[in-house]
Amino acid sequence: MSVVNPMPRSEDACDLAPGYIRAIAPYQPGKPIAELARELHLEPDSIIKLASNENPLGVSPLAMQAMQQALADIARYPDGNGFELKQAIVNKFGVAMPQIVLGNGSNDVLDMAARAFLAPGFEAVYSQHAFAVYPLATQSVGATGIEVPAKNFGHDLEAMAKAVTERTRMVFLANPNNPTGTYLHAAELQRFLEAVPPRVVVVLDEAYNEYLAEELKTDSISWLARFPNLVITRTFSKAYGLAGLRVGYALAHELVADLMNRVRQPFNVNSISLAAAAAGLRDDDFVRRSCELNAIGMQQITQGLSKLGLSFIPSFGNFISVNVGDAAKIFQQLLQRGVIVRPVAGYGMPAFLRVSTGLESENARFLDALKASLSA
Ligand SMILES: *Cc1c(COP(=O)(O)O)cnc(C)c1O
Repeated sequence: MSVVNPMPRSEDACDLAPGYIRAIAPYQPGKPIAELARELHLEPDSIIKLASNENPLGVSPLAMQAMQQALADIARYPDGNGFELKQAIVNKFGVAMPQIVLGNGSNDVLDMAARAFLAPGFEAVYSQHAFAVYPLATQSVGATGIEVPAKNFGHDLEAMAKAVTERTRMVFLANPNNPTGTYLHAAELQRFLEAVPPRVVVVLDEAYNEYLAEELKTDSISWLARFPNLVITRTFSKAYGLAGLRVGYALAHELVADLMNRVRQPFNVNSISLAAAAAGLRDDDFVRRSCELNAIGMQQITQGLSKLGLSFIPSFGNFISVNVGDAAKIFQQLLQRGVIVRPVAGYGMPAFLRVSTGLESENARFLDALKASLSA
């Protein structure tokens, strides 16, 4: 005799989930190569992906070697304190070990900041067209996101400072920002930090810091001594070429870092990632080559876009957002030609596509495919 269960009713559990969870719009990642290959019956090798700001040079040889060594030990839990990686960060940046929070990607660190400092009733301020994880992290803890209109696609820091109220506990800033590639000067950032009350945690997301020209790099780490409410986040996903491993970190006042570490999952960064990141951090040559390739690719792409008569937002990252008009259509056209870029309609930029810089051959193929797509 079979027991027939009543039809499951979604309202039992799902409708009782907090409204702020049900209201979350899921993050839309770049389309994986394998997925497009399956959909269009293409050879994966014939597809290029310039959709997730990944490093076209691949992985640092030093990181690769460290990963291979770490493989022998994966039956053991990782070092939950990440001593070796933290030591490498201390050596490179001169911070103290208790100022470091390691994350499973810097997304994880952004999430920890939100969980440590936000709650229902509090507000987090971020810019229009800013990185999608800021509203996600804010909403997932039931806090209220305050989106401040952008100025020329960049953060309007004066308006953001004015948007801070008694309920504000956090501000997210991205420098450079993704997907706009816009940049904030040290002087304006410093003015902002001085204007914001110390009870507001300012998260300064520097995921693309390595790509900045030396003269544009802000010594934000030196500000930690002056601004105990500052949290700087960095990642190994971009210039360090370790996106698949998921490693990032935050640097902050040690009391702030301590709170974030309390909400961190005990083994959030796996042992392969810890080893690779520590080795990658020492591979200055790899980062330098990555930046050089990016500079060349950026020039190649911007010249090509200008030739096509397209306008774009000048970018300080390893990607650029270009106005193509009907972006949804051009995106599909590019897919048909085996080229994956990123639509950014979800960022309030429905006319734009974001393209990451790739190898010279990939950039050329993107430009050719774009030209064909525009006249299709
Ligand atoms: C890519 C990116 C990150 C890094 O994400 P990870 O989780 O470290 O891979 C963080 N912030 C911005 C603005 C980004 O574009």
